[in-house]
Amino acid sequence: MSLVSAYEELRRRSVGDVRIAEPMARHTSLRIGGPADLFVVCDTLAGLSDTLDVLLAEGIPFTTVGKGTNLLVADAGVRGAILLLGKEFKRHACEDGHIRAGAACVLAYLVQDAFSRGLGGLEFAVGVPGTVGGALAMNAGGRDAWIGSVTESVTLFVPEQGLVRLRGDEISWGYRTSGLPSRGIIVEGVLRLAPADPERIRLEMERSLKRRKSTQPLGSPSAGSSFKNPDGDSAGRLIEASGLKGTKLGGAWVSDVHANFIVNDGGATAADVVGLMSKVRTTVRDAHGIELQPEVRFLGEFAEP
Ligand SMILES: Cc1cc2nc3c(=O)[nH]c(=O)nc-3n(C[C@H](O)[C@H](O)[C@H](O)COP(=O)(O)OP(=O)(O)OC[C@H]3O[C@@H](n4cnc5c(N)ncnc54)[C@H](O)[C@@H]3O)c2cc1C
Repeated sequence: MSLVSAYEELRRRSVGDVRIAEPMARHTSLRIGGPADLFVVCDTLAGLSDTLDVLLAEGIPFTTVGKGTNLLVADAGVRGAILLLGKEFKRHACEDGHIRAGAACVLAYLVQDAFSRGLGGLEFAVGVPGTVGGALAMNAGGRDAWIGSVTESVTLFVPEQGLVRLRGDEISWGYRTSGLPSRGIIVEGVLRLAPADPERIRLEMERSLKRRKSTQPLGSPSAGSSFKNPDGDSAGRLIEASGLKGTKLGGAWVSDVHANFIVNDGGATAADVVGLMSKVRTTVRDAHGIELQPEVRFLGEFAEP
């Protein structure tokens, strides 16, 4: 594979911003991550299509990311290309109770827009950071509601196939997983909302934000919940009951506000975070016989936490 020839070709085709050895710490909410060999911001569908043609021709693997709020990127970085969707994918429009949103739209803007139009259905997403693409890939949400339950359709760009539209009910939504084809790049989602009492929406959003502010370490860099909740229990409760709140490894801490959040004190490495996750897993397994499963997605080379 030739990164240099791919870089030159992508620049020649003006697909968007193309960088070499881009530090991924700039693109993750944990503020951790070494360099991506190639980092491409695709501003248009044509640019995305061109980018994939070049990467496939050069045999360069790729991963698409959103705001990096659910990612742990290795200190050694990522071999191959990281794709980010730009301008054209940040648009959204509202029609007949549906919101059609590009994958790079920030979810929080949609939540606000739906509220201002008196449309309900997105209240569960208040305070969930990241993009529509990331939320659809992760089936983001809470215990009782998630994005898959309001998704009318998802449009993907699949290499060598082009645009593929899937109806929401054709997608196997699960707990923090969408089952969408892993080679597909999510480019758009259509969400189905319904008219609702604005006062009820406002109260529900306020309640949810207040709960987050009092129970989550929102002032510190994190990737949200480190582990999924096991059936019938909560990962945070198990970690706290194992006496792990405040445990530190290098610059990574088990938050003393919410035990399922690992926060970066400013100097943490990915190795610190993964080492701490490993310690949490072992301690919870020994204390409670439960094997926690990571919720964060790993990018780059890691030993299993
Ligand atoms: C403080 C905090 C609170 C959080 N609270 C919640 C919560 O309540 N509920 C919840 O579900 N999550 C929560 N999260 C986790 C995270 O915000 C969500 O998972 C979010 O939906 C991720 O969006 P993103 O754009 O940051 O995606 P990223 O983190 O960039 O990527 C996540 C995954 O999606 C894939 N992906 C991203 N965009 C695309 C695309 N266009 N096409 C294909 N694949 C793509 C990536 O490859 C990766 O596998 C929280 C995180 C933080 C930091």
